[in-house]
Amino acid sequence: MQQNHKNQEPNPSHFEESQGTSDQEVPTHRDLTWDEYRDTIQGMRFFDPHIHMTSRTTDDYQTMFDAGIVALIEPAFWLGQPRTGLSSFKDYYSSLVNWERFRSSQFGIRHYCTIGLNSREANNEPLAEQVMEILPLFLYKEGVVGVGEIGFDDQTAAEEKYYRAQLELAKQAKLPVQVHTPHRDKKHGTERSMAIALEHGFDPAWVIIDHNNEETVKSVLDQGFYAGFTIYPFTKMGNERMVKVVEQYGPERIMINSAADWGISDPLALPKTAALMKMRGISDETIRKVTYQNAIDAFGQSGQIHETDFANGLEIDQSQKMNGNTILRGGQQPRIAKESLFIN
Ligand SMILES: [Zn+2]
Repeated sequence: MQQNHKNQEPNPSHFEESQGTSDQEVPTHRDLTWDEYRDTIQGMRFFDPHIHMTSRTTDDYQTMFDAGIVALIEPAFWLGQPRTGLSSFKDYYSSLVNWERFRSSQFGIRHYCTIGLNSREANNEPLAEQVMEILPLFLYKEGVVGVGEIGFDDQTAAEEKYYRAQLELAKQAKLPVQVHTPHRDKKHGTERSMAIALEHGFDPAWVIIDHNNEETVKSVLDQGFYAGFTIYPFTKMGNERMVKVVEQYGPERIMINSAADWGISDPLALPKTAALMKMRGISDETIRKVTYQNAIDAFGQSGQIHETDFANGLEIDQSQKMNGNTILRGGQQPRIAKESLFIN
C-alpha cells in the first residue's frame, strides 16, 4: 500500500485534532534508518517513560531492545473504543500490571506502569465513579510508579473533578503524577493543570507534565515541574525541534518519550532523538539525562524503580510462563540470553 504521510490526517490517538497551523510547512522531524544511527547510540541505554505497549507488537519489543531501551513506563490509556463497563477497566489495569509486564520481560525490557482514569473517560461520570473505587486496588501493586495519565482533554468540569480526585489518591499512595496536557488550548490547559496540582499541595517535583512544546516548557520548568516531551512525528513534537529545546533549556527536569500507541507513532523515537542530539554535538551526559536518568529520578520517587533491575539487562528466558501462558506462538523456539546485549 502506498502511503503519503503528508496527505494523512493527524493521528487522533493522543487526542489530536487537525490544527492547520502554518508551521506544518516547516519540517521538524527527521526519520532515521537503523543504519544511519546505530553506531551513534552504541552502548547507550534508554528509558522510555511513556509508551502504550498493549497496542504494540512483539516486533517492537525486539527492535526497542536492540536499540538500547532497557525499561519503560506504560501509562493507562484510552483504547479509542469507549469502555462500556467496569470489568473492561479491571481487565485493562490487570493486563498492565501482569501480562504486559511479563511479555516485556520476555524481550529483555523492564516494564513499569502508571494507573489512572483517562481524561476522556472522566466524561462518562457514572462509569468514572465506579473506576475511582477500584483504582486503589491497582495503585499499590508492585511496579506501579505513578498515577497517570490524568488531566485535561476537553477541559470539562467532569475532567477537572476526576483530575482533582486522582491527585488526592496519588497523595495518599505517595506516588508521582503523570499529567496529560490537552492539544486544544494547550497553554491554558497546562497552566490550569499545574495550578490545580499546586492547590492540592503537590511538590512540583512529583508531577510530570507531559506532551510539552515550545510554548509551555519555560513555565513548566520555572515552576519546578518535570517536563515530558512526546516525539510524535506528525503532530506533537518533531525530533529536530526537540534538539533545539534541549539546546535552549539544558537537561534538567526534561524527559523525552515516544508515547507510541495504536496510532501512527514510533516506538524508537527515543533512540532516534538521542542519535540526532549526538549528531548535533549535544553531550553524552545531557543525552543520558533526558533519555534515561531524569525519568528514573522522577518516577523513582515511587520507591518502585531499582536501576539494578534493568541497568545491565534482564535475563531473557522465553521458556517461562505466566499463568500457564507463554509469549511463544505454536512451535516457536524460545530465545534465551543470559548476557546483556544492547546492540547485536
Ligand atoms: Zn499516552
